[in-house]
Amino acid sequence: MIPMVDLKTQYLELKEEIDRGIIDTLDKCQFILGPNVTAFEREAAAYLGAGHAIAVASGTDALHLALLAAGVGEGDEVITTPFTFIATAEAIRYVGATPVFVDIDPATFNIDPARIEEAITPATRAVIPVHLFGQPAEMEEIGEICRRHKLLNIEDCAQSFGGSAGGRLTGTIGDLGCFSFFPSKNLGCYGDGGMVTTESPELAERVRLLRNHGSRVRYHHDLIGYNSRLDEIQAVILRAKLKHIEKYNMGRRRVAALYGKFLAGTVEVEVPFEDGRGVHVYHQYTLLTDFRDRISESLADAEISSAIYYPIPLHRQKVFHEDCVNLSLPVSESVAGRCLSLPIFPEMTHSQVEEVTAVISALFR
Ligand SMILES: *Cc1c(COP(=O)(O)O)cnc(C)c1O
Repeated sequence: MIPMVDLKTQYLELKEEIDRGIIDTLDKCQFILGPNVTAFEREAAAYLGAGHAIAVASGTDALHLALLAAGVGEGDEVITTPFTFIATAEAIRYVGATPVFVDIDPATFNIDPARIEEAITPATRAVIPVHLFGQPAEMEEIGEICRRHKLLNIEDCAQSFGGSAGGRLTGTIGDLGCFSFFPSKNLGCYGDGGMVTTESPELAERVRLLRNHGSRVRYHHDLIGYNSRLDEIQAVILRAKLKHIEKYNMGRRRVAALYGKFLAGTVEVEVPFEDGRGVHVYHQYTLLTDFRDRISESLADAEISSAIYYPIPLHRQKVFHEDCVNLSLPVSESVAGRCLSLPIFPEMTHSQVEEVTAVISALFR
């Protein structure tokens, strides 16, 4: 059996350190905003090269609090991709703003910078590029557009911890970076978790207030905030795993290269394209194919998992129906109909990759 992701193997490698850290936290009974959260924020900021890192309760909250901190709200428009997880657009709605969906580049699956400018109106306040599947979005062009039109650039880095573009790690390129530590993400904890990064001390301070009931000093409240803190036990797990993130991401890149090699002769599938401007960290390994059902059924028969990320682009979701009735985004629609993600995780072995690709190539012989 080959799963999409194997969290158990990774846990067993770090079991001693993680178990010890958790027991130590239980002993100290300091569960909220304790020393491990502070240390994790410092270590994550140092790894990424970010001025400030603020840990929060989830990736969804990271996006929500980043938008609030930046002052995006009622009446504002935020440009983003329709080919992403729903949370990207949910956060825009949480603050009362409207998501404006712009079609994607079929090669990278990321927002197509060439189509951003035509979507800008006087109400546009921000762009949220998503580094989808671990491939950094085209940050140079997007940054240029944001500067020209005075728009905030808020990166959705939920799938790209450790990925880079133009020599800079994702989350340090735009005005704010939003990370998720959901268990299956490239850096994942054992529950929910997230983080906001920024170079701006003012934005950082506002996110810090927002995550903790608008409070800097206990029982003194400057604004209406939220309860959105990373808990101490999750911070212990993230600190243990952060030390190995380079190895994990290299492992993903090794698996992707093997897939590319074994699938090279199978013209019925298009393997992921790397634009070479940055480092793709392969949160997912996603093919395009006209034979999706046949492939996934054969894989399932061989006890190999596969998944469709994402079957319905956001502008076609019921929840956004009213906003998007006349909106046609043909590239996203076509990609959503043809994409298929294969198992990928840092510990995946050569023979496991061979097993997956053998099933696929056998179909077309
Ligand atoms: C996972 C994910 C999120 C949300 O993160 P959670 O931690 O699950 O709230 C947001 N955006 C993208 C692109 C994601 O993949």
